[in-house]
Amino acid sequence: MLHSVMADLTKQELGVFEAKLRALKSELEAVLETSRDASAVVQLDQQSVGRLSRMDALQAQAMAQETERRRALDLRKIDAALVRIDEGEFGYCASCGDAVGRGRLELDPAAATCVAHAK
Ligand SMILES: [Zn+2]
Repeated sequence: MLHSVMADLTKQELGVFEAKLRALKSELEAVLETSRDASAVVQLDQQSVGRLSRMDALQAQAMAQETERRRALDLRKIDAALVRIDEGEFGYCASCGDAVGRGRLELDPAAATCVAHAK
């Protein structure tokens, strides 16, 4: 790895970020599990209620699916960050290779890019 020494996170810092990522991951997995059950309930309700409530149920389901989609995306980001830890690439921008920055990682340990390359 040709990253500058100054940008390097210490082993201890890496460990802290890894623990955070793993905690976030199991949290998300638990929530995803629960929301999957919730969508199943909406589907059941749909069959037994009138048209208006049916539309409400569909809308609620669409929202639940969007939330679930975003959570699944977050989960993928976290998994990717864990892979970067394994590969020694964690903390470096996926676009330019510069340091992502501690402050940014504190806010979002799964951040894959520096501020300049965040969309
Ligand atoms: Zn960058």
